[in-house]
Amino acid sequence: MTPVTCFSGKTVALFGLGGSGLATARALMAGGAHVVAWDDNAPARARAGNEGVDVSDLDKQDWSRFSSLILSPGIPLTHPRPHWTVERAKAANVEVIGDLELFCRERAAIAPGAPFIAITGTNGKSTTTALTAHILREAGIDVQLGGNIGTPVLELLPPARDRMHVVEVSSFQIDLAPSLNPSVGALINLSPDHIDRHGTMENYAAVKARLIEGSIIALVGVDDEYSWRIGQQRDARIGSASARFTCPVSVTRPVARGVFADGTKIVSTLYDPAGKVIGDTAGVSTLRGAHNVQNAAFAAGIVHLWRFPLETIAEGLRSYPGLPHRMEEVGRLGKVLFINDSKATNADAAEKALLSFDDIYWIAGGQMKEGGIRPLMPLMDRVRKAYLIGAAANDFARTLGDDVPHAVCGTLEAALIEAAMDAETSDAREPVVLLSPACASYDQFANYESRGDAFRKYVAGLTNI
Ligand code: ADP
Repeated sequence: MTPVTCFSGKTVALFGLGGSGLATARALMAGGAHVVAWDDNAPARARAGNEGVDVSDLDKQDWSRFSSLILSPGIPLTHPRPHWTVERAKAANVEVIGDLELFCRERAAIAPGAPFIAITGTNGKSTTTALTAHILREAGIDVQLGGNIGTPVLELLPPARDRMHVVEVSSFQIDLAPSLNPSVGALINLSPDHIDRHGTMENYAAVKARLIEGSIIALVGVDDEYSWRIGQQRDARIGSASARFTCPVSVTRPVARGVFADGTKIVSTLYDPAGKVIGDTAGVSTLRGAHNVQNAAFAAGIVHLWRFPLETIAEGLRSYPGLPHRMEEVGRLGKVLFINDSKATNADAAEKALLSFDDIYWIAGGQMKEGGIRPLMPLMDRVRKAYLIGAAANDFARTLGDDVPHAVCGTLEAALIEAAMDAETSDAREPVVLLSPACASYDQFANYESRGDAFRKYVAGLTNI
């Protein structure tokens, strides 16, 4: 845990007592602050109360005694409309911040130069963060991995000179962290997402830009218009005299003083203008697909910027174990490979998986997202047959029509059994049974994790026979 000592003696309001909210309350109290907390959820309140948090209805408080309102990233700050606690805070002139801001202030107070890597983007955040942390760990570094991925940032050990914090940050967390100033910040890519929570694409991009503005060294994906522009704006602002530096990252073209991909090879022109290969994802089964080359380019670029030996990067890429539910290999039965990509809850994400294999026995469906699977139709020559589940099954069947063989299977288990049988008896050399649903899971499962866990369990049942 990182006790927030810089709030010692202060009284703060905290709204949201989920995982990161409770961790924040603990860290503030350990640092000597008085926390008055509330949540709409009664069990969450009870849990906090049992830990000694002062749980009181914030609506009934005198807000002039609060120095700050600490908001959980899940609570709306601006859109669709500010949460009532935000309105109360504004009326009382109380700042509204999040756990990442507390971390930044504590770092500034106790270890200002401590290595702090913050990674954001619309897609690939978790993979890039986990991969960066993995490579550094393999190099023997004391790595603290967390933030939007897994462990809340204040649950990690405190920042220190000989310790590296590798933190995934969402746009909501950035929005609540005005003094975010990592040693290295990375913006992988930007495309329209979470617009309901940011109002417009411009607002969303402006929030992401704040991470890049605050970073000493910034790695910026230059393949999409929005990120590219953010990199340009930063360069225009800092000028060439600054110690700050912007490293462009591209997977589509060579870049000067940056990192780019040539097929699966990752090339750096940071220290050698002629270009040096610093990594390669070829043959790494946990980093399949072009999108993972982008993630690996960022991770390798970050480590390379720190001047770690190239062998460290090569070894780290080779041994990367992958993240569950993201194109995760969960079994093999004869020539058939089973892939769990339950995290693909929309067509965009499923597209990445479909592009990564040739002879696909595709399990899709669940709670449908807008547009369904229509954008995926150009990829259907890779799909031998689709097995449709959940609420979206009939809609998807209509979209696939007569062109793509498909079966409405209802449940995940039924779909898997049928797909496995078809794949095994097919003439394909390397058939893949792929769960990449392009749908939310809520019609049949608690979340995408339990959907993926169920798939893994059913596959284990099949492959153990
Ligand atoms: P995030 O944390 O940003 O949601 P993840 O690393 O968890 O990203 O990956 C989630 C899904 O997003 C993957 O299964 C894949 O479909 C897609 N994805 C991953 N990396 C990228 C990328 N660089 N560009 C586009 N899509 C990606």
